[in-house]
Amino acid sequence: MRYSRTFIPTVKETPADAETISHILMIRAGLARKVASGTYTYLPLGWRTLLKIIAIVREEMNKAGAQEILMPSMQPLELWQKTGRSIDYGPTMFHLEDRHGKGNVLGPTAEEVVTYLAAGEIKSYKQMPVNLYQISAKFRDEFRPRFGAIRSREFIMKDAYSFDATAEQLDKSYRAMYDAYCRIFKRCGLEYVIVEAEVGEMGGSDSHQFTIPCKSGEDTIVYTEDGSYAANLERASVDAAVKQRGTGDVPPAEEVHTPNIGTIEAVCAFLKTHPQNMIKTLIYSEADNAVAALVRGDHEVNAEKLSQSLGGKHIELANEQVIGRVTGAGVGFAGPVGIGKKISMMIIDHSVAAMTMGVAGANKTDYHIRNVVPGRDFPLEGSNVIVTDIRFAQEGDTHDGKKVLFKKGIEVGQVFKLGTKYSEKLGAKFLDEEGNEKPCIMGCYGIGINRILASAIELGNDANGIMWPISIAPFEVIVTCVNQDDDEVARAAEDIYEQLRSRGVDVLLDDRVLRGGAKFKDADLIGIPVRVTVGKKSLAEGNIEIKLRRESQGQKVPTQEAAVKTAEIVDSLKERLKV
Ligand code: ATP
Ligand code: MG
Repeated sequence: MRYSRTFIPTVKETPADAETISHILMIRAGLARKVASGTYTYLPLGWRTLLKIIAIVREEMNKAGAQEILMPSMQPLELWQKTGRSIDYGPTMFHLEDRHGKGNVLGPTAEEVVTYLAAGEIKSYKQMPVNLYQISAKFRDEFRPRFGAIRSREFIMKDAYSFDATAEQLDKSYRAMYDAYCRIFKRCGLEYVIVEAEVGEMGGSDSHQFTIPCKSGEDTIVYTEDGSYAANLERASVDAAVKQRGTGDVPPAEEVHTPNIGTIEAVCAFLKTHPQNMIKTLIYSEADNAVAALVRGDHEVNAEKLSQSLGGKHIELANEQVIGRVTGAGVGFAGPVGIGKKISMMIIDHSVAAMTMGVAGANKTDYHIRNVVPGRDFPLEGSNVIVTDIRFAQEGDTHDGKKVLFKKGIEVGQVFKLGTKYSEKLGAKFLDEEGNEKPCIMGCYGIGINRILASAIELGNDANGIMWPISIAPFEVIVTCVNQDDDEVARAAEDIYEQLRSRGVDVLLDDRVLRGGAKFKDADLIGIPVRVTVGKKSLAEGNIEIKLRRESQGQKVPTQEAAVKTAEIVDSLKERLKV
């Protein structure tokens, strides 16, 4: 393609709303333009990259035995009501009513639609294993769309769904996707980390996330230095605290007046204690029930872990009315002592159970209780008591005795073992070998296409612009003609361009009548991996220059060898990303 005929609106200015480098460069390099919050038009360069990513994803999915289909983005609300996810997804799902008053949603994902398909078509174990995938637009009304392509409201996702007759076969289907993902991210030139993940709204058992470590990532990866453990923050489990040994008898629990002092910090200052000596009690709503979650004052409740401890039930922080009903007090004074009957379940973090004594809310406005002893003043056992890990890992924690470390990452893909949650609710059943009717065992597997583009920029950039991996660069080579107004130079550039094209190299010819300096700036900004420079002076000496975007020095090559040499360099760059 010719630069002069291609729509590449590069800009010098940093967009005002851009917080991350990938967002800034996506706009500056003319890859995309914002239409509204979280929605973008991808321009020729951005779309070329997305298409290359899609091609890699498609190839690897097909190789792994998955079959491509296309499902509708507009989906009947009814299906989502059947699985209960119309509620779980909450305001993140876009709803629309058609002219007949029927509810529809814009699919944030497609488990419901694909399971509905399976319910109608899969009748026998003989039809499985089957894995169906699509590459299509997904819609999520994100609370805070940001970071350009990383968190938008409309984006392209590859979503695959496996159907199996047995748990062993699901393990195989899951593994096939896991391996395909490794190949996809390697081919896209991304350094990735695989982390154990929580299943969240999806329901199910096993899950892994493919994460790109970089500082603008919104996910936190918790890992041990030896690499034996990596999980996302929602999931990361920490070693249980060892029960602190008491120093003699603890005096009886005692109520103290703490007027208008509701926060941990304020109570600590007032009672001259430390957050680790406080028992923080949070009230959650689970359907019509209230649940109390207890963590130490210096810890934070992990709602995902809390939900998992209740078998994956949907929970949310209780509102003021519920808190008032349960505790009989204003917000900030909930505590475990005497709350038992008002709640359906008390979930106690290991570190609270290990405390000798602590300060807790008194379930009475403006009062706390000190000398609260777990096991003495509130139960650590019983049918409505669970002691488990419900907090976020933090600095100083260990996993299997090893110190945990933290780093930021972007989730680009996730694989889940779903089990039978969807097939049971939507009636996707089959007859097994013995003629017994069973629900299909499912897995689901997503990849964010746009996030791959953004992550590649996050990992590959310098002060001058993007540095693409060659496999997903909008072009592999840019031929920069420095003196376009000189016929001889223009002809030489054109000649190399044609030779490269005939060798199958994806090449852009910068044929604009513009200063060399401005062309170099654009070439660096849009990040084409190999630049071939054709200029009057070196051409007179019989040379052209080949320069890699990631290297500061170029090399001079005799003009007649330029195309062959460039094609070799392209091949060697591609070779590194092969699987
Ligand atoms: P997140 O936790 O970041 O909101 P998610 O876990 O909800 O993402 P999944 O349901 O696992 O996302 O979707 C599969 C993939 O789709 C993700 O791994 C991610 O790459 C991509 N994705 C999800 N939400 C967005 C979004 N708002 N914008 C762009 N890509 C997204
Ligand atoms: Mg995910």
